[in-house]
Formats: sequence, C-alpha cells, structure tokens
Amino acid sequence: MKRSGKELKYQFDLNPLLKRLEELKVKRVGLVLPEGLKIYADYISSELKKHGYEVIVSGNFNYGACDVPSFEFEEECDCLVNFGHASLPIESSIPMIFIEVDFVFPYMELLKDNIDSIKKEGKKVGLVSTVNYVRELPKVKEYLESEGFEVVIGKGDIRVKYPGQILGCDFSSASKVSDKVDFFIFVGEGRFHPLGVAISTEKKVFAFDCDGIYSLNDYRDKILKERFGAIFRAKDSKKFGLIVSSKKGQKRMALAKILKRKIEDSGFIADIILMDEVSPDKIYGFDYDSYVICACPRIGIDDAKRYKKPLLTPKELEIVLDGKEDYFMDEIDQNDF
Ligand code: SF4
Repeated sequence: MKRSGKELKYQFDLNPLLKRLEELKVKRVGLVLPEGLKIYADYISSELKKHGYEVIVSGNFNYGACDVPSFEFEEECDCLVNFGHASLPIESSIPMIFIEVDFVFPYMELLKDNIDSIKKEGKKVGLVSTVNYVRELPKVKEYLESEGFEVVIGKGDIRVKYPGQILGCDFSSASKVSDKVDFFIFVGEGRFHPLGVAISTEKKVFAFDCDGIYSLNDYRDKILKERFGAIFRAKDSKKFGLIVSSKKGQKRMALAKILKRKIEDSGFIADIILMDEVSPDKIYGFDYDSYVICACPRIGIDDAKRYKKPLLTPKELEIVLDGKEDYFMDEIDQNDF
C-alpha cells in the first residue's frame, strides 16, 4: 500500500485498534510511535480521523513500552496508543493500547546458506527474538528441525509477553533455557539484544546483518573490555550520581535507594538525580565523579561514549564497590520499582 510516496513496509492492521477504541468508547486518541515508525504518524492519524477520532501525536522519543507518557496526555486524550511494542505490566492513568508491528525476517536465505557451519556448534539451539520478529520463530524452528536440530524456545518472566521474546532489559527467555542448549540464534536486527543474550548466558549467539550471519563473541569481548575500562575509571570515585528516569517502566527508584545506602555505607557520597530523558547535556553541569544508570539498562552501555564521566550499570557498581569479578548484564526486575 502506498500513500504520499511512502511505502508501508511494516504490517499495520488497524482493525483491532479500531475495535478496541470502539469498545473503550473513547473520542480523543494519543499516538505514541518509536522513531522508526514516526513516518507513519500522518497515515495512522488520517485513518483514525476517518472514523471520527481526534488525534494528538506525541513528538517525544519513545524507546519501548516502558515509556508510558500517560500523565502528559491525560488532560487531552482518553487513551494512548503505542505502536511497535508489546505491553509491559505498567500502570497508566488512561487506557494504553499496544499495537504490535510485525517485521518480516529477511535473513532466512542467509540462515540456509550458513547451515553447515552452524551445525558445527552443536545440535541443541535456543531461539530468541524481539517482539517485531517473534511471530517468525515457528518458521525458523521448523526449518532448523528439518535440518536435525533440537530447538528450544524459552518462556521468560512476566515482563515478556511471548515465548522467545527478549527485551534490552530482560533476557529471561534465554537464561531460563541456557543449560538446555549449545548455542542461541537471535532472529531479528541490531546487536544489543543478542549481546545481552551472549553476556547473560555465556553461550555463543549468532545474529544476522546485511553481510551474513555472525557470532557475537568478538563484539561481546569488545564491549566487556570497554565496560571494565569504565569500571576501572570509576574506582577512584568519591561522589556518585544515581540517575533515575521518571519514565514509568524505567523508574527504578527502589533500586536507586538501595544503591545510595550501599555507596554511603562504603564511605562515599551519593545523590539520586531524577530526570525524564537521560542525556549528556542534562548531567553536564554536575560535579559527580561517576554516574549509575537506574533507568533503561541500554543507556549505560549503548550511550556510554557520549558521556565524559564513567557511566555504570547497577551491576557494575557492585564490581566497583565490592571488587566482584564476574560481570552480569543489567536487567530490570519488578523489585527495582
Ligand atoms: S527499559 Fe530500555 S530495554 Fe527495557 S523496554 Fe524500555 S527501552 Fe527497552
């Protein structure tokens, strides 16, 4: 389907949304889209307007279902519609509707071309994916089984909706079945999610890019080297800033309070700094020696190079304070809130 020269390459079925809006008997709809889908805001809005709804589009960045801006919209809208993410167990002051968007897994041919080298890694394979590709897992499973693999798709904790689904802050679908598999295949795009699986399970993980299929081992080693560099730099810190995001699903205030006490018990200074979007310019004026990210776990790793001072995850802080040697990936736990 084309509109205004824009190819709709994702699969949007707006009928379930229209049905849900009708059930809710709402009139004013807030639209929340991640960056990659913002280009479709005008299309979705025009479809909703055709059905008599008033629409307000959020201009803020949206990174996940953790980011529910209900308090910003509750005056103007009767409900919020978030595209591209699966729901998380988060309270909202107005109804939230999550419309998942399926991407087509474009790497099946690459998988087939590389099947002989993958077979060298073992017989038991775990499949993991993000929500946008999770419905492709049965197809990949069927193919791998036809090639003689034993395929395991794990069910994660309450923060993930589908078997095999992982989030950048939750790798439980992988870690729960890690001892049953020889290696993992990540069905999706990007490197952070398979990196998280590689670090949290210590198993070999294969992922895809335009050039082919690759193991995450080299990237994992590079990132771990960088992380231990940040940990080393933070070792002389006397003043720690604990950054908490006010985004509902990232507001790990309980965790920040525990860490604050721990830092103070170690004889150092700690303050909790609350902000919405976490960015380098917001902490530029502060004079803390290191920062601990009690928000989205991706920030401390993905964005670390944008910050002058060491940025640590809560798990990395434990290495700094307690001298622990094992590295654990930061994941969000319901007790963090
Ligand atoms: S906290 Fe980060 S990784 Fe988790 S859902 Fe939100 S944006 Fe994604």
